Amino acid sequence: MAPAKTAKPKPKPAEGVSRKAGREATRRRGAGTLQAPIEIAGRRVRRGERLQFELPMAQLYTQTPLDMTVEVIHGRWQGPVLLVCAAIHGDELNGIEVIRRLRTLPALDRIRGTLVLVPIVNMFGFLNQSRYLPDRRDLNRGFPGSETGSVAARAADVFFRTIVSRCTHVIDLHTAAVNRENLPQVRAALDQPGVEEMARGFAIPVIVNSGLIDRSLRAEAGRMGIPVITYEAGEALRLHENAIVAGVRGVTNVMRTLDMLPARRGSAARAEPYVANSTSWFRSPADGLFRPLARLGAHVKKGETLGVVSAPFSSDDTVLAAPFEGIVICVSRLPLVNEGDALFHLARFVAASDVQGEIVSHDSDIAGDPLYEIETVDNIETIDPEPAPR
Ligand SMILES: [Zn+2]
Repeated sequence: MAPAKTAKPKPKPAEGVSRKAGREATRRRGAGTLQAPIEIAGRRVRRGERLQFELPMAQLYTQTPLDMTVEVIHGRWQGPVLLVCAAIHGDELNGIEVIRRLRTLPALDRIRGTLVLVPIVNMFGFLNQSRYLPDRRDLNRGFPGSETGSVAARAADVFFRTIVSRCTHVIDLHTAAVNRENLPQVRAALDQPGVEEMARGFAIPVIVNSGLIDRSLRAEAGRMGIPVITYEAGEALRLHENAIVAGVRGVTNVMRTLDMLPARRGSAARAEPYVANSTSWFRSPADGLFRPLARLGAHVKKGETLGVVSAPFSSDDTVLAAPFEGIVICVSRLPLVNEGDALFHLARFVAASDVQGEIVSHDSDIAGDPLYEIETVDNIETIDPEPAPR
């Protein structure tokens, strides 16, 4: 049977940057300096070339080598070296798909600077459909790693020393953990040099200004002066189309902000980002089956109903009331809860109703993006059924 085809809506005309400003930016870009070849992980890539290679990470106890695939796209003109990486937590798949779509964009043939793509950092976890490494370590708590340490420490060391330290900027792609779904959002420590420009440049409605966790990629790269932002969207072990499209757009928006790509001609509505400086988890006050009523991205006021927990053999419902006004940025997808389990992550904003409006308009913009893949049965070629035997 022929594979399902994809129906793509026509691109919408864009607005925002005027054509004159776009031509001016293009003229300025043309006056750049040609780049020298770049050397990453012992591979040399000349300007105008793209190279994909396998970086040895470890050896399994079957003696099978385990590699990390890296792609380097080295533009003709000098500019930033941007790393886009995913699956540091091996079960977080949306970022892998973001990179898969990003790398096919024709605009990457004309970038200024260098784009380094690592779609699966934690290959152990990816193979095992697990967040962790074989020794149950979290790779994102193991940077910068060690050449002589455990498997986790060695994997962290190879990635950090040979890839991260060669870059000037990093976008790290994540999802929520298993059974939780994140609203697409950027997490960043906005007081770190260069971080706020990238976070706002991603152009997504919600930025969570969050502190640095010791030995995370954000903290350790930041220590070396490399700004890192994290894109969080969707749930582990799932693909979410809106999270993927928003991710591809966000990365290209950051590349425009860093002048790696020309400013968009004409169009495209860019989302206005709002910053939350604090967030809190709402935890279940009861045991039972959980039914969420507030959706991701919803604006809830203090006292409004978030959901209900009911014990299987009881007619009593425990109604979950929002403890403060905020936006729902993560929700649990597992209906089985014990008292104390985290159910909703709420972010505090100065103008939460404006944030919700921006989320709604960003969602509809994403749904109309040509990147959005709508699979329809109309496009599947039909095969005449065999005549029934008489
Ligand atoms: Zn993660």
